[in-house]
Amino acid sequence: MSEFKIEKIKELRRAGRISQKELGEMLGVSDRAVSKWETGLAKPTAENMMRIARIFDVPLEYFLKEEKISLHEHRSVGMESIRELYKIGRGPSSSHTIGPERACVAFKERNPDADAFSVILYGSLAKTGRGHGTDTVIKKTLAPMPCKVEFNCHKVDIPHPNTLELFAYRDGKEIDRAEVMSVGGGSIVFDNAEIEKPPRIYSESKFTDIAEYCKEKHIRIYEYAIEKEGEGFVEYMKGIWDAMKASINAGLDDEGILPGGLEVHKKARSLFNSQHIDESAETRENRMVCSYAFAVSEQNASGEKIVTAPTCGASGVLPAVLYYQQKKRGIDDSRIINALITAGVIGNLIKTNASISGAECGCQAEVGSACAMASAALAELFELNIDKIEYAAEIAIEHHLGLTCDPICGLVQIPCIERNAVAAMRAINAVNLANFLWDTRKISFDRVVLTMKETGRDLHSSYKETSEAGLAKIQL
Ligand code: SF4
Repeated sequence: MSEFKIEKIKELRRAGRISQKELGEMLGVSDRAVSKWETGLAKPTAENMMRIARIFDVPLEYFLKEEKISLHEHRSVGMESIRELYKIGRGPSSSHTIGPERACVAFKERNPDADAFSVILYGSLAKTGRGHGTDTVIKKTLAPMPCKVEFNCHKVDIPHPNTLELFAYRDGKEIDRAEVMSVGGGSIVFDNAEIEKPPRIYSESKFTDIAEYCKEKHIRIYEYAIEKEGEGFVEYMKGIWDAMKASINAGLDDEGILPGGLEVHKKARSLFNSQHIDESAETRENRMVCSYAFAVSEQNASGEKIVTAPTCGASGVLPAVLYYQQKKRGIDDSRIINALITAGVIGNLIKTNASISGAECGCQAEVGSACAMASAALAELFELNIDKIEYAAEIAIEHHLGLTCDPICGLVQIPCIERNAVAAMRAINAVNLANFLWDTRKISFDRVVLTMKETGRDLHSSYKETSEAGLAKIQL
């Protein structure tokens, strides 16, 4: 053990703004133990060294080398725009539907004279594209022109696991073609262009720093975000809220069976209309909120338009709680948008410091993050102070820790649709608890986010969107 440079633990801990007590709790040891390691009075076990490396996202070798690495390399420095988080597109998957949809929109625009199209899907798009409805989304987007979609699972020489080729025709002759990579989160890259990372327009990347900034300037979280995002941001968010409302209303109008073969019935409409004569106010609230969450999630599962919040699979939670409040209290759109922006900051923090991807960290990263966003949004809507907003988001994500991603048949239906509804109710619960108990809080939001990341790493890969374990093993 002597070869480990254990003084580097302190270096990383301070850079990550984590106290000895917090690090001790993450490792299941006392703060005295952490203090002893940092002062050289004791040495952590090899297992703890591995866990510390995972917590701070550094290789174990980091503790074996003399030379120091810039601390900035080990901290998330800044955040991207909230516009990168909220995207309007067709569900049920950002990489398998929103990315290809955006590719088709751009290709159609650059070929206004085309009278037909064809598309070849490769890699993961070819293997799971049918279940995700990639072909349906492509055909809908290129309509009214006819489009043939081919699934090529054999070609291995592709630039990215999610690659598609698009062809445009006029009078039977090919007039244009493009190779597009769907690189995640709905982002696309055309014809091997450089993958450009969006700029980090926020200098802060921890809730603690944002709270400090807001308190100093006497502003609310949404005002901080508007300041950082600049011109056009509020208009962008208006479009996001309009799209969320549209997906709720479309879902409430919809009936029938979801695509994919599981024979799952769309239930939002019947849930919305199933009123009992002597229904209590609490039951009604539950039924309404859940019907809105079902409405969006069923639209997502049907390949219709939704807003990633923060992902397609978790898109029902946030709109459900906000729409319910808007209807119940007659709140105007501008206040709802402030709440949506607050939720965006929370989602952005999770995306930056942990993950919002089920494939990376399980469903805790998708529905757990959506629940944290929804509870922070509600807290903003109720004009709670910044500490209560933090506590609401912290409670919400804490009680999703360890949640697996194991949808049946890889379709974003079971358990995903119900899970969105349950998480919406949990967000309401979290904000109520936070309002009453905020001054008894022991754990920071930043720390729970780190814990979520660590838990996600420890989750076996069969529980991270691979359809290999858990509910995914059930044959229906
Ligand atoms: S179970 Fe998986 S696919 Fe379903 S919502 Fe959760 S993360 Fe998304």
